[in-house]
Amino acid sequence: VAAAHLDRIEAVDGRVRAFLHVDREGALAQARAVDERRGAGEELGPLAGVPVAHKDVFTTADMPTTAGSKILEGWRPPYDATVTARLRAAGMVILGKTNMDEFAMGSSTENSAFGPSHNPWDLDRIPGGSSGGSSAAVAAYEAPLGTGTDTGGSIRQPAAVTGLVGMKPTYGGASRYGMIAFASSLDTPGPFARSVLDAALMQAAFSGHDPMDSTSIDAPVPPVVDAARRADVNGLRVGVVKEFAGEGYQRGVLNRFDETVELLESMGAKVVEVSCPHFTYAMPAYYLIAPSECSSNLARFDAMRFGLRVGDDGVRSAEEVMALTRAEGFGPEVKRRIMLGTYALSSGYYDAYYGKAQQVRTLIMRDFEAAFEQVDVLISPTTPTTAFPIGERADDPMAMYLADLCTIPANLSGNPAISIPCGLADEDGLPVGLQIMAPVLADDRVYRVGAALE
Ligand code: GLN
Repeated sequence: VAAAHLDRIEAVDGRVRAFLHVDREGALAQARAVDERRGAGEELGPLAGVPVAHKDVFTTADMPTTAGSKILEGWRPPYDATVTARLRAAGMVILGKTNMDEFAMGSSTENSAFGPSHNPWDLDRIPGGSSGGSSAAVAAYEAPLGTGTDTGGSIRQPAAVTGLVGMKPTYGGASRYGMIAFASSLDTPGPFARSVLDAALMQAAFSGHDPMDSTSIDAPVPPVVDAARRADVNGLRVGVVKEFAGEGYQRGVLNRFDETVELLESMGAKVVEVSCPHFTYAMPAYYLIAPSECSSNLARFDAMRFGLRVGDDGVRSAEEVMALTRAEGFGPEVKRRIMLGTYALSSGYYDAYYGKAQQVRTLIMRDFEAAFEQVDVLISPTTPTTAFPIGERADDPMAMYLADLCTIPANLSGNPAISIPCGLADEDGLPVGLQIMAPVLADDRVYRVGAALE
């Protein structure tokens, strides 16, 4: 199985460009080790021997890790991320590392220092982002499963535009140890898959408390695999988020969404409209909180500790070397966010910007809590539009940010949310995603509904 996927990568990745690094020898060795254990009569789990495309934001002791940035080019981490280690412990075969927007900032992979990945449905279009290398790899059948990270939508949006299942677990449900930080209070690792059950199997494999991450939750992993097998919505109360429709939404996306509502009703769910009035402020709050946290997290790239070092001639000061390295090593979007975040956190502005955004965050959490007093799950389109052409929004950050309009609230609140395929848009024949959100730690519920609709 590993060899077949490696061959597929060889055949198509020149066009898809999902991978930054392919580890053919390492993958085949891992696959042989699984074969031997199986041959020796060992009882192996469901993911043993299954190949995975691993986002290049997770550290891997045996492969380079760049986070899509030139500043980390050539860096070899001395350790495995917890997610990496748990995938290996499950017997998964890591095929290589996938492309991403630099430090996970973006919605298209166009912010990668190594060039964009391409959507297998139409190679001239984006595969979503920031985890677009993984979505492209799974959609192009280069791997059956992929990993991603979701800070504002970076698993759900790429899954939606490539016709895959993509899940953002409850914040803290899985460890962030060894996952290169963008915005620590939002970053969440999660799976890409071609079926809801596959996604559940992989989430179960890498989730659970980790003493190396103080924000990882010390509670049992929700029963996501059982829920994906159960797959029913009978008697379930489903809320349609009223704020996520109308202007800016592609007709074909709304058509598929409306059909899904009818389908849910025909399957015995009770569908009602729910208002979450503060969701409209999620985007501005996110674009203060995420850059603020990134400006702090990215301070560690100081030309001394990792990767690139520019201008170290024995004469220049450490400060000059740091400035030259950061000027050359970071791309324009990363610089934009560091500047925005530094400004928002500076004295005199902190309360007006960062403080205010945190208050909005609380209001969004309360909207979720109030909604889940009336309904069991909330649904919306995952993204307002299908995959857009490469280049179309590259020079327009505001247009790019709109791709995450519907996904950001669940990051600010920590709630679990999945995107599942729900057909193709009438205008362009491209995949449309449905988002299902549930209360914190009720990850099983989104799997149950997602599997029922599959
Ligand atoms: N597109 C959003 C951003 O650029 C979300 C990215 C993410 O989830 N990593 O911040």
